[in-house]
Amino acid sequence: MSGTGPAITICWLRRDLRLEDNHALFRALEEGGEVLPLFIFDTNILERLEDREDRRVDFIHRTLSALKQELEALGGSLLVEPGRPVEVWKDLLERFPVKAVYAAHDHEPYAVARDRDVMELLRDREVGGLLKERGIPFHTVKDISIFERDEVVKDDGGAYTVYTPYMRKWRARFTPDMEQAFPSRERLHRLASCEPLGLPTLADIGFRPTDLEVPPTTLDDDLLHHYARTRNTPSIAGTSRMSMHLRFGTVSVRELVRRSRGISSTYLNELIWREFFMQVLWHFPQVVDTSFRPAYDGIPWRNDEDEFAAWCEGRTGYPLVDAGMRELNATGFMHNRVRMVVASFLTKHLLIDWRWGEAYFAAKLLDFELSSNNGGWQWAAGSGCDAAPYFRVFNPKLQLEKFDPSLKYVKRWVPEHGTGNYPAPIVVHEVARKRAIATYREALDGADTRTKVQPRLFP
Ligand code: FAD
Repeated sequence: MSGTGPAITICWLRRDLRLEDNHALFRALEEGGEVLPLFIFDTNILERLEDREDRRVDFIHRTLSALKQELEALGGSLLVEPGRPVEVWKDLLERFPVKAVYAAHDHEPYAVARDRDVMELLRDREVGGLLKERGIPFHTVKDISIFERDEVVKDDGGAYTVYTPYMRKWRARFTPDMEQAFPSRERLHRLASCEPLGLPTLADIGFRPTDLEVPPTTLDDDLLHHYARTRNTPSIAGTSRMSMHLRFGTVSVRELVRRSRGISSTYLNELIWREFFMQVLWHFPQVVDTSFRPAYDGIPWRNDEDEFAAWCEGRTGYPLVDAGMRELNATGFMHNRVRMVVASFLTKHLLIDWRWGEAYFAAKLLDFELSSNNGGWQWAAGSGCDAAPYFRVFNPKLQLEKFDPSLKYVKRWVPEHGTGNYPAPIVVHEVARKRAIATYREALDGADTRTKVQPRLFP
């Protein structure tokens, strides 16, 4: 294939790394003509990662390697290019006669800016003949959620900031066609035929293999049947472990919605929480840096670095907090119940800015998703949409008694618990609880905590 061969359509994969039920791939294959799938190892993102043994990079690499093999067995291939997206695209346009580009929407602020730059490049592109006038079309489609942007809003057009009414409207607007799969795999005979292309190694992009254990991509009915009962017990495999697959698109959300409807309303509600936080980020992009409730940015955080280090390393003397942090450090995963407890402990007991915890999670979580992570942290700190009132402070001891009464989870991650080697609590619960409430109250007193930030205005 060269810059002068028959024009091809490129399907740019980003967080939709699968061949089945892939909306962008399906549309690209429908376009007519041959399709070349592309993935860019974006050095803007890779350079910001601190750990050269990042399990997420390893996961992407393993996934691409499997996709490439599958595509080559069908006579096509997968083009994998490291670099800055705009630079990669400039180069690709020299090498391939591109007639159209397809990709799935990605609403994170960085992705929106990246896509705008690439769209401009493609639009201004002067390619011969017919395309000279209008440039190369860049089609983007919805794939990672059932609803996106402002598709679920209040009757007056305003954005929802409370989950329950959002969830009700989501369910009211849902129709079964929305969970139908896009049969992309069936159309893979329309792949551009080409020689097998190279795949950069992990070392080529500056990373090393990791100990990552990938959870299965399958979700069994038993788990869904028992989910409402098992989801809060961190010592058992009672949740689906689909979050990383949803993050990278190795599982389609449509499939999970299809599977859960009729079996577990509770599970569907969790998928709706994911979309709730996505639309919060879309309507209120300022939450990336600031509290959703601006008054909460007046809280005088203590930000004690030694206490932060103890929290990160799981040495707070609170067994459930320490077990959670050690699970995170060892595996890149932490159970949702425990995420809530450790986040509350950091922001309330230690009075450390939620942004510190958010950044630590972002560096470690396999399923790191800006919208859910920011939403979870602001929820715990009390500063977010639909957050718990600030004076409700989780008691980590009671949480332990309730959710890990036999200490099975704690013993797995904190083997020295109960021995003389386990540290004493770094704060006394009742003292820290009172300090948190007094500090929050003082900062919020007088400030109008009901003031809502303005949503962005749509053109
Ligand atoms: P399951 O219980 O099986 O849930 C199924 C799916 O529903 C999940 O895969 C996820 O996509 C979605 N979901 C479940 N709970 C939530 C929730 N509270 N908010 C949004 N979506 C949810 N989730 C992320 O995907 N990425 C993050 O970066 C992230 N950061 C978090 C930070 C904090 C402080 C908190 C409290 C929660 C965070 N969550 C995040 C939400 C939740 O903890 C994880 O989605 C869940 O633990 C993943 O495990 P699972 O797939 O087994 O979940």
